[in-house]
Amino acid sequence: MVKEELILATLKEYFGYDSFRPLQQQIINSVFDKKDNLVIMPTGGGKSICFQLPAILLPGITIVISPLIALMKDQVDGLTANGIPAAFLNSSQKEKEQQEIFSKIQKNEIKLLYVAPESLQFIDAVFSAGNISLIAIDEAHCISSWGHDFRPAYTQLGYLKNRHPETPIIALTATADKATRKDICDQLNIPHAAQHLSSFDRKNLSLEVRPGIKKFEQIMAFLKGRKSESGIIYCLSRKNTEELAAKLKAKGFNAEAYHAGLSHQERIKIQEDFINDRNEVICATIAFGMGIDKSNVRWVIHYNMPKNLEGYYQEIGRAGRDGLPSSTLLFHSYADVVQLQKFAEGSGNAEVQLAKLERMKQYSEALSCRRRILLSYFGELISKDCGNCDVCRNPPEFFDGTLLAQKALSTVYRLREQEPVSMVIDVLRGAQNAQVLEKAYQNLSTYGIAGDVSWRDWQQYMIQLINQGYLEIAFHDQNKIKLTSLAKNVLFNGEKVSLADVTQAELKKEPTVER
Ligand code: ADP
Ligand code: ZN
Repeated sequence: MVKEELILATLKEYFGYDSFRPLQQQIINSVFDKKDNLVIMPTGGGKSICFQLPAILLPGITIVISPLIALMKDQVDGLTANGIPAAFLNSSQKEKEQQEIFSKIQKNEIKLLYVAPESLQFIDAVFSAGNISLIAIDEAHCISSWGHDFRPAYTQLGYLKNRHPETPIIALTATADKATRKDICDQLNIPHAAQHLSSFDRKNLSLEVRPGIKKFEQIMAFLKGRKSESGIIYCLSRKNTEELAAKLKAKGFNAEAYHAGLSHQERIKIQEDFINDRNEVICATIAFGMGIDKSNVRWVIHYNMPKNLEGYYQEIGRAGRDGLPSSTLLFHSYADVVQLQKFAEGSGNAEVQLAKLERMKQYSEALSCRRRILLSYFGELISKDCGNCDVCRNPPEFFDGTLLAQKALSTVYRLREQEPVSMVIDVLRGAQNAQVLEKAYQNLSTYGIAGDVSWRDWQQYMIQLINQGYLEIAFHDQNKIKLTSLAKNVLFNGEKVSLADVTQAELKKEPTVER
């Protein structure tokens, strides 16, 4: 066991910090215990130290698998500047350069070695050349096609544990829902990894969703008084990024478009100008941002709807990493939903992607605190509204929906959590269709107990119950609807539930049709 004083002294000496952030110490201890670990921490939470600090103290080398070849050099330079011997190996290097690194590996003169997942052919050579203490897998969600940024090269990583079972693995990511977390562990062959989930709550980010009409005018209004602040506008298409950047430039903003169609050099320049405050606004596709360490991004706008909440959360998470108040704005339009549906249908696992998109849409249309929805999506249940989202600031009218909630939750319970939302509503309303009768659901005690509420209203209430964290959808299990731990409070402990008055909200809502 490595002594706590030594760990703290190392933190101070190499990183300049006096204390750990939440979870860091616990994770580091678990690494020293030679356990496999899965770390889920929001962007900016401080994941790197969780493997960099152990790397310094462990006897051998820590291999870091990182998808960002472009940033490897920066990372290695940063470490070297702090006195931590580090290097990277990739296929763009000359053979001589690679040989020099291998000779350092043999002499145990390197503590951290960065390797791209595409260059795994090096790994076995590295293992036979040197003493490997730890394998860190950064951006680990890239291994899962259920996540939002699947990289085929990552799927080879499963062999690491088979080939080198004695070497502990630490997998790290900023985004992964429950099912994706399991998928990551399964695919890496670390089913018993200790999971460290840090809070996803970024209280300094305000959340807002607006109808996607007259978007440019809305953006101009939003940017009023923010002229010198850094911000990112995420768009769905390259064309959008360019058009928007041009329009902003014409209005006197230092705006640049960023997408995968640009050359490597162009992209690097735009990133560096942004990081060093030489341009303020980046209009980007989702290609932008991964691994970019800029603490003073003050706002993020989604010009188009993201395809799921993981992507959305990661992208807004690039704002306010310094902890200061920062704003996020999402434009919601059905044109985007239709487009994203097409993408999802053409993807490898359409059912899951469509269900995630549906969740994204429900978030956009939410009538309850948006932060509660986001956090509950990641498995974090909070029982109070946040006060820092547009719904909290301008709430719809609520009524005591406890009885309705009890009826719905007990029906889910009686259906043994084996049915999707539509069946729950059928049973509540006493429908007599073939599926209900086939399964003899008319015999359930809650059958027909709420036939006085229309199907449409029930759908709204069910969405609200999901959004408030009482129910959840099992995306990977035919979208069956399940009770959460909060539901028990309502069913058994008399907890009250407020529901938004659907008819009211409908009247207040602005049209969300694209111009
Ligand atoms: P992540 O990889 O989770 O996005 P990083 O590891 O890049 O986050 O850390 C984000 C920032 O927080 C960095 O500037 C890092 O130096 C800083 N940081 C990490 N740990 C601590 C700590 N214990 N105290 C203060 N700052 C820290
Ligand atoms: Zn809120």
